[in-house]
Amino acid sequence: MITTTFTAKTYQNYINNEWADTIAEDTIVSINPADKEPVGYVQKSTKSDLEKAVEAAHHAKKSWRRLGQSARGQLLFKTANILEENLDEIAETMTREMGKTLPEAKGETARGIAILRYYAGEGMRKEGDVIPSSDKDALMFTKRTPLGVVGVITPWNFPVAIPIWKMAPALVYGNTVVWKPATEGAVTAAKVMECFAKAGFPAGVINFITGSGSVIGQGLIDHPLLNAITFTGSEQVGKGVAQSAAARGIKFQLEMGGKNPVIVAKDANIDQAVEAVISGGFRSSGQKCTASSRVIVESSVFEEFKEKLVKETEKITVGNGLQEGIWMGPCASESQFNTVNEYIEIGKQEGAKLVYGGEVLTGDEYDKGFFVTPAIFEKVSPDMKIAQDEIFGPVIALIKASDLEEAISIANHTKYGLSASIFTSNISSLMEFIDEIEAGLVRINAESAGVELQAPFGGMKASSTGSREQGEAAKEFYTSIKTVFIKGS
Ligand code: NAP
Ligand code: MG
Repeated sequence: MITTTFTAKTYQNYINNEWADTIAEDTIVSINPADKEPVGYVQKSTKSDLEKAVEAAHHAKKSWRRLGQSARGQLLFKTANILEENLDEIAETMTREMGKTLPEAKGETARGIAILRYYAGEGMRKEGDVIPSSDKDALMFTKRTPLGVVGVITPWNFPVAIPIWKMAPALVYGNTVVWKPATEGAVTAAKVMECFAKAGFPAGVINFITGSGSVIGQGLIDHPLLNAITFTGSEQVGKGVAQSAAARGIKFQLEMGGKNPVIVAKDANIDQAVEAVISGGFRSSGQKCTASSRVIVESSVFEEFKEKLVKETEKITVGNGLQEGIWMGPCASESQFNTVNEYIEIGKQEGAKLVYGGEVLTGDEYDKGFFVTPAIFEKVSPDMKIAQDEIFGPVIALIKASDLEEAISIANHTKYGLSASIFTSNISSLMEFIDEIEAGLVRINAESAGVELQAPFGGMKASSTGSREQGEAAKEFYTSIKTVFIKGS
């Protein structure tokens, strides 16, 4: 049931500990993809607003670094508690703004809280190592030091968890932050920012600025006072981010798209595989970078798997994610919706066979939103566009393989390398898969879209710049190492 009454408000930038309108007095509307109604308005900021945000972060960096890791961690604990108090409201906003169902939105917000607490704990952990010197009278050790001002550019599909898994480590390791959220998730982002603001960080330590990617995102990367950039989003935008950052000589990290395979081997537990493919492929309407989009099935179990998959997919309820009993929400925006429909047409034209779904839902409340039914294609060959391009929607391509070796080779036949799963009960098969698969996340008898905050996260090939986020791995990006050598005088 949709219980709360709702009004679309206007949200401001947060610069140097003050909420402020853009000097341009212009806003951007954020739309609910379930009913096309406004969810809120955010600032359409200009380069002058950005200038203030980066300068504030620059001025704050020395005192923030000197505050010490433990005190910085305490502020993250506070933020976690405030986010927890606001969990329901933030999750509801997320569902309204980008469509994922309320239980998923609550799960993501809870994940954000857990990530804050994990990195808050980093405040009490080591910041270097002692290394034996060849001089017995010397002390040699490493000391982690922050990078300075870190730019954070985030996508709309995880508007709470992704910003937090970037900002929490950036902050605890002593960096100051300028955060530019995705426009399509900017209202949810503003509510996350409110939690940071209430926690009482010193002025300038964390700044929030909304606006277009090409003006504010690009302007941030190009700003001479920026020391590093962390980006999650599309491959297309990411490539430009890399070029700009490399030209400036600043540290950068990119996490981008995926075309994640699931192999169903002949000895798989088929029911388990079906459940995982449905969850990995269709939750969040397939709009996860780790979503399962290619399912490669050994020919001897292909028909059985397909029939069970279709039977279970038929049970999926599509609708407004705020309503109880809805399993899959709308596509997050009109452009996502159009992309999904275009790819369904492309798949048919390429000669793949649509065995289920892929229909635009119409009538009553469906007319008001961007709803499609989950789609399953068979007779897909590995080179088709629907088997190569990241669709970022609820579309699964079933590909037949004659044996495990061929299945792995098809799985690797993509420019991406984020996540990959296999379903098998054969130890040799899973060992071969672990060795041969080109993916940063390797999942055995588990869906492709699972992530644990205490473990490294990131992709290979075109999915990533190869660095890792989350867990201890985040430290490698957000700090630099000083090697210190001390000798008595
Ligand atoms: P996107 O269009 O690339 O946008 C990502 C962010 O970049 C947004 O904040 C966007 O701002 C900004 N941006 C756009 N143009 C820019 C430019 N020229 N310079 C600097 N910044 C710019 O991606 P999206 O549609 O939000 O997210 C979907 C994509 O993210 C998918 O490809 C998905 O696979 C990927 N993703 C990857 C991961 C991962 O960890 N590997 C996780 C989640 C999502 P505006 O919103 O204002 O355009
Ligand atoms: Mg929206």
